[in-house]
Amino acid sequence: MSIDSNISQNGAGSDMSNTGVVISHSATPLPEGVHLPLYMDNHATTPMDPRVLEAMMPYFTGKFGNAASRNHQFGWEAESAVETARTQIAKLIGATAKELIFTSGATESNNLALKGIAEMYRERGNHIITQVTEHKAVLDTCKKLEKQGFRVTYLPVQADGLIDLDDLRRAIVTEGPEKTILVSIMFANNEIGVIQPIAEIGKICHEKGVIFHTDAVQAVGKIPVDVQAMNIDVLSLTAHKIYGPKGVGALYVRRRNPRVQITEQINGGGHERGMRSGTLNVPGIVGLGAACEICMNEMEAEGKRELELRNYLKAKLEAAIDYVHVNGNMEHHLPGNLNMSFVYVEGESLLMGINDIAVSSGSACTSATLEPSYVLKALGLGDDVAHSSIRFGLGRFNTKAEVDYVADKLIDVVLKLRELSPLYEMVKEGIDLTKIEWAAH
Ligand SMILES: *Cc1c(COP(=O)(O)O)cnc(C)c1O
Repeated sequence: MSIDSNISQNGAGSDMSNTGVVISHSATPLPEGVHLPLYMDNHATTPMDPRVLEAMMPYFTGKFGNAASRNHQFGWEAESAVETARTQIAKLIGATAKELIFTSGATESNNLALKGIAEMYRERGNHIITQVTEHKAVLDTCKKLEKQGFRVTYLPVQADGLIDLDDLRRAIVTEGPEKTILVSIMFANNEIGVIQPIAEIGKICHEKGVIFHTDAVQAVGKIPVDVQAMNIDVLSLTAHKIYGPKGVGALYVRRRNPRVQITEQINGGGHERGMRSGTLNVPGIVGLGAACEICMNEMEAEGKRELELRNYLKAKLEAAIDYVHVNGNMEHHLPGNLNMSFVYVEGESLLMGINDIAVSSGSACTSATLEPSYVLKALGLGDDVAHSSIRFGLGRFNTKAEVDYVADKLIDVVLKLRELSPLYEMVKEGIDLTKIEWAAH
């Protein structure tokens, strides 16, 4: 429904006001094809692809069987759908169907991977390596493992967000009770879009006989992922970041060269070869499979389109606004991600100014306080710069018209706020504020 039809229907006294969506009215008419609020936050979650929903629908009603029911048609039908999904997912990451375990999402996959490996290989050693810009599902799990006696090394990142492979090599312990049992490094970062050198990390891990897990939530379906070529042993993924449903994910666990074992964290009926009990979410799994198959077929074209839109957005903002700073290495970068700091602008005012656009800011709401993003801080950004940062997450359904709207709106807001900024005034007058690293370009 267009904004206009919504308004006129409301005006005519129909009860269409209950759409549940708050629509802000802008003074100027919206460009063709642009609807508010506008979604450009596809790293947080994605809308479901209608083709995925279509594939799922029968499994809510007519084909409602329990995949573990071995003695009737309903069960067989559900089981066969689950096995089809397993194959679809496996194909996208170069795995075999048997190496996939279904979970409730990547938070659970990460927990199962880290806790499951730590518990299984406890006799072998107690050292785990990860890095500072991981998702909280990895960091908080590591914190928990530390409390249980494991030693965790959190590798720093360089100013561009990439880890230094020499840091990794140095951190690996190959002998003694402090032997490294696991390295967990994310494939692509959810805030800054930086892609870590996964194949090199995998090679190092295999040479040293250490299990390599990667949180590949932001990479799977967006860029090529191959667990064989990249020596990945364990990999987490989730459906809702690739146009599938929320609440379903998977964990890939390597079966040979080497065979990786994990201790189950949920006990029950012995589903998923005992590694994750619980009745399978059949419609969700079917959706995850369908989402993977669509990505498999369309990833290349979609990546190219998103990259063009991303570069267009970046160029447009940089042309109109001075003192902008792009965060993260732009060479090793997800096509749909752009993280930019608009310095000399107060973060909260910036967000208020674009409140009909759904993007993420460099501030994380932890309870009542507004904390600067730990990822941006790890790159060396100051609190103010982090707060004035915006993460744009372009996705399958974003259009050029939307990018233009977002860019124009942002330029307008930033320029207006800069007029009110004493800091910006000083910089314009040539006053050297400090030895600020993100100098103008
Ligand atoms: C979204 C996300 C997760 C969490 O996935 P859920 O399925 O929502 O639990 C984990 N890691 C990364 C990098 C993510 O972006």
